Amino acid sequence: MEYELERKKLIDSLVRRGYISKPEIIKAMMKVPRHLFVPKEIEPYAYHDCPQQIGCGQTISAPHMVGIMVEKLDLAPGQKVLEVGGGSGYHAAVVAQIVGLKGHVYSVEFVKELTKIGKENIKKCGLGEIVTMINGDGSLGLPEYAPYDRIYVTCASPDLPAPLIEQLKDKGKLLIPSGGRHYQTLVYLEKKGKKIVKKDYGGCVFVPLRGEYGFKLY
Ligand code: SAH
Repeated sequence: MEYELERKKLIDSLVRRGYISKPEIIKAMMKVPRHLFVPKEIEPYAYHDCPQQIGCGQTISAPHMVGIMVEKLDLAPGQKVLEVGGGSGYHAAVVAQIVGLKGHVYSVEFVKELTKIGKENIKKCGLGEIVTMINGDGSLGLPEYAPYDRIYVTCASPDLPAPLIEQLKDKGKLLIPSGGRHYQTLVYLEKKGKKIVKKDYGGCVFVPLRGEYGFKLY
């Protein structure tokens, strides 16, 4: 398969540097052809461990960040997952490999044009049955399919949007980069009955969340 060696080198380095370790995650990242999720001219750089432009001023997260988030989310086959910030569809495709046909990934993307691109990318990889890409304001969650086992946000949020916490199942887990416009902390949150357990996973930088609970940029 095209770029297989580059992909293997990247995944090996993510393991070596301690970003990923679970066998199912290594397998999932090995299966997803990241070069199909970036614009044609960026294809040769798709397996470099850095974010890449995907158009409309947005980026596909660096592979190590996708790896960290997928590890921390504690995914399993059969889970129903909500992604806020679908972009290219790459992150959703990796998650889809883990939740499988008995699970589902609902991915909300704010920019119409990107939703279309993400949808096409998902289809190209044969994951259309597991991933549904929807155009809309994901800061409001996606109440029609709630509650979710897992929710993750791939853009920077000024706060922890209440609808996302509400739409999480009991024992559900949420990952969200939260903080300022230019620098955030990756926040992990677990719902335990009426209790919320929170952990911080360190600094990160994401493009801003827009919409109702996002940054007011325009
Ligand atoms: N997960 C993506 C990363 C995309 S970057 C991938 O694998 O490619 C983050 C994305 O969040 C951008 O595409 C941006 O348009 C989107 N976004 C920003 N605010 C949003 C909102 N309120 N709802 C849904 N998507 C949003």
